[in-house]
This record gives sequence, C-alpha cells and structure tokens, in this order.
Amino acid sequence: MSKEVLKYQLFIDGQWTPGESGEMMDVINPANREVVAQVPRATPGDVDKALHSARRAFESGIWANKSIDEKVAVLTNATMAVIANKDRLAYLESLTSGATMRRTGFVDVMSVAGSLAMSAAILKQMPAVEHAICPPWVAPMHSYVIREPIGVCAGITPWNFPMILAAYKFAPALAMGNSIVMKPASITPVTTLELAKILTDAGIPPGVFNVISGPGSSIGNYLAAHPQVDKIGFTGSTEVGRQIAHLAADGIKRVTLELGGKSPLIVLDDADIDMAASMTLLAFLTHSGQVCESGTRLLVPRKMQDQLVDKMIEKIKKLNIGDQMDLATDMGPIASQEQLNTIMNYIQIGKDAGAQIAYGGSRMSGGIYDDGFFHEPTIFIDCDNSMQHVREEIFGPVQCVLPYDDLDEAIAIANDSPYGLGGGVCSTNATRAQQVAKRMRTGSVWINTWHILRPDVPFGGYKESGYGRENCYHALMAYSEVKHICQDLSPDVNSHFVYSLFGFNR
Ligand code: NAD
Repeated sequence: MSKEVLKYQLFIDGQWTPGESGEMMDVINPANREVVAQVPRATPGDVDKALHSARRAFESGIWANKSIDEKVAVLTNATMAVIANKDRLAYLESLTSGATMRRTGFVDVMSVAGSLAMSAAILKQMPAVEHAICPPWVAPMHSYVIREPIGVCAGITPWNFPMILAAYKFAPALAMGNSIVMKPASITPVTTLELAKILTDAGIPPGVFNVISGPGSSIGNYLAAHPQVDKIGFTGSTEVGRQIAHLAADGIKRVTLELGGKSPLIVLDDADIDMAASMTLLAFLTHSGQVCESGTRLLVPRKMQDQLVDKMIEKIKKLNIGDQMDLATDMGPIASQEQLNTIMNYIQIGKDAGAQIAYGGSRMSGGIYDDGFFHEPTIFIDCDNSMQHVREEIFGPVQCVLPYDDLDEAIAIANDSPYGLGGGVCSTNATRAQQVAKRMRTGSVWINTWHILRPDVPFGGYKESGYGRENCYHALMAYSEVKHICQDLSPDVNSHFVYSLFGFNR
C-alpha cells in the first residue's frame, strides 16, 4: 500500500461527513512517527448531529423493527464484508496502533467477524418470546416477555485494540436493534471509521452506525452526558470509567464498563519452568504489555524465582522487537509518546521503591528504535505487593515478580488488588490449577495460557475493573430492555376478575 496520508471524515447518517470546525487531527505510525492519516476533530455540534441521525434511524424502525431473520441476514453479510476487507483492516490497525501484523491479520479482524457472526447466531437461537409458565392469576391471562432495543447507544473505546473493542459494542448493539454512535480513541480512530462504511455498505441502514473522532475530554464527555444517549458501552481506564459512571447515573443510563487491570499469574510449585516462562511472556509482552488483562504480577515460589527469571530472560533475548508491519516481528512499539512516558515514569517509581531490575528497564535506542516508541521488556524481581508500580496499571512490557512461600499466601496476594479483570495459573496438575482458578477474584482465569477471549464466552471484570460483561449472550442482554406484556383474555366486563375485585366493573 502507498505512503499517502489517508484523509477521513466523520461517518454520520450513512455518509462521510466533514467535521463542522474543519479542524483535523494527525494519526501517526508509532514505529516511526510518520503521519499516516488525518481525521476530523469533532465538536459537540458534530456529536449532536451524529446522535440526531442515530435517534432518527432508531425511531423510524428502519433497523429496530426488522425481523430477526432480516437482522441475521444483514449481520451475516457484514461478517463476510469484514473478512473480505481483512488485509486492509489488518494493515491499518497495525499501522496506527503498533500491533504486529502477524496478530492483527490472524486474530483482530477475525475477532471482529466473530463478534458479528456470534451476535447473529445467538440472536437466531434466543427465544424471541418467553411465556410465563403457569397462570399466576385466576382470570385467563396471557403473560409473556419480549426483548427490545434500548435505543441510542454510545460506544467509547481505547487505543489498544480499536477494532476488537469497537466490535464488542456495536455487534451486540446492532443485533438487538439499537442505533450506535462510536467514539474511538484519538490516536487510533481509523479502523472504526472504515468499519462504519463497510457495515453500512453491507446493509446496516444509514444512521444506525455512526462514528465521530475527537478527544475524550471534549466530545467523549459530551457524548456520555448527552440526554439522547440511552446506553453507554465504555472500555478504558478506571479513572475515566468512574467519570462515565457518574455521568450515566445522572441520566439513569444503562452502562457497561470494561476498565483497567493488574492481573496476577500464580506459578505453582509443580509447574514446568519452560512452560511457565513462555506463559509469562505471553501474559505480559503481548502487544508490548498494552492489554487490559495482561498478567503483570507474577507470583512464583521463592525457591523457583531465579530459575524462572533466567528462563524468561533467555526467551526474551530471542524476540524480534521492531517494525510491527514486518511479519517476522514478535513485539512492536508502544502506541504513543505519552504511553512511553507513563511506562518510564513507573519504572522510575519501581526503582525508587527499591525493587531490583533483572532485565531491561529502558527505552530502546539506536537504529529504527530512535524513530519510534520502543521499550525493552522489563522484569522487576523481589517485589512487594504494596509497592506503587506493583499495584497500579503500567500498561507496558513490565513484569513484577512477587516471590511467595505458601499457596494460601499467593492467592491472598493475587486477590489483594483493587482490580479483578484477569488471572492465571501455571501448573502441571489440572486439579490443583482449577482449585486455584476458582479462588481468584477475577472475571477470567487462564490455566497454562493467556489472553484467550472468545465471542462465545463473557469478558469483564470484578471490582474496579468494571461491571457488566461483553461478548456472547451476556452482551446481547446488556444491549436490550426486557418487557413484560400481559393480556387479560376475559371476554367482557362482568367476567373480568380484576375489575370486579376492585369494584370497577359496576
Ligand atoms: P482512556 O480511559 O484514557 O480513554 C478511553 C476512551 O475514553 C477514549 O476514547 C478516550 O478518548 C475517551 N475519554 C477520555 N476521557 C473521557 C471523558 N472524560 N469522558 C468520556 N470519554 C473519555 O483509556 P486509554 O488510555 O485509551 O486506554 C487504556 C486503558 O483502557 C487502560 O486502563 C486499560 O486497562 C483499559 N482497557 C480496558 C479493557 C477492558 O476490556 N477491560 C480493554 C482495553 C483497555
């Protein structure tokens, strides 16, 4: 593909629409800081326009009133359209987010397609009507329950997995008949804009799927507080999630929050060292550690710490760290200068607290590393769970090793966190591993693996990692209202039990 700077407009009412201010924001490739795209800096006026279009589409019933079969047909079309655009979507996702092409081509695009396909499949299987199973009342009554769309949804997403996290919101929202306005992160808006066009071309009616680009502090905030928004699906930091929850509370809006994490990985004393080292790298180095559920607190039996850390270092030295667009690259750049600064700041905090660095600790330099935002995989050893860099989310390739003496202590340390998103256990003993998994207070636990998120299982957090669940049946429920319809079948006023009970039949 050429090196031209791609120019985007907002996607409103089924059309590319210029932002009202005419102001544009640069989108860069984090591996070399080259500007690769420009998107409008939307204003509150643009948000109003997008919400107006979403509301009009919703009220018209053009999508909400389609039959289940019609919706399933369009979602299936949309799934195929995403797959047909696989190369372009993977390229743009990698170019702007720093994710390796090897991953985006294999995982991210197929995950978006999977979210659409799974939402369609669940919609098709879900009972359209649930009947009350026995008459609760002496009169002839027909009581049944249906699901309806909530209305206009706002999807606000972070920069680390722009496409996947957008699909976690728009796929169930669309399946349940809602309209949606997506607000991607300022540094990675491109693929969400592309998806809006692809899905609209695949049959999603104009106005049902809109995308506005711009800063969270101005338009994200305005969108979340807007009276025209009925439901907010938010993924991002716990700090901003808390603000969203306050805004949602004022308007009694429905809300799903997927927030931060500091996930523990417990290595049991029966673990295979080779497997434990690989599992640890998978847990904390995937996407250069910029994953909400990254395993970044490594609990290891004290007597195994040195051996495990040596093995991790041996494997880290074999990694290709560099240009994310090269299929041979294992680990790409950090997504932005701001995030690189955050990582370096936390490393200093760790050093100041007295934690020892066994590997890494610095920004990478020399050659291509000088052009972009590259950071070494970093391992802190002999950490204490009370240290700030161990408790707070760093969102970078930084592992904190916490040696433990007995398993109850390890589980207590694992659960001693404000977060509860992911967790993991490494063991050769399936029974022990499962027992430990059950005792972890987190929304997902992986045994001898990590990061496996599927469209057919729920994903979400305990504690300050958020509330609600994305994916599968749970997500479709979260994007719908439940309605009980009750019909009295009494033929006339005199045989109407309820009227006569209260004397209203006379
Ligand atoms: P962020 O909270 O800064 O921003 C997320 C989104 O919210 C962006 O689109 C941003 O523009 C917008 N935003 C910012 N301030 C806002 C405001 N006041 N009102 C409304 N919207 C606002 O997060 P980030 O830096 O983009 O992403 C990293 C964070 O996301 C990490 O904490 C990570 O753990 C979390 N995350 C969580 C999950 C999950 O599923 N739990 C997944 C990925 C990332």
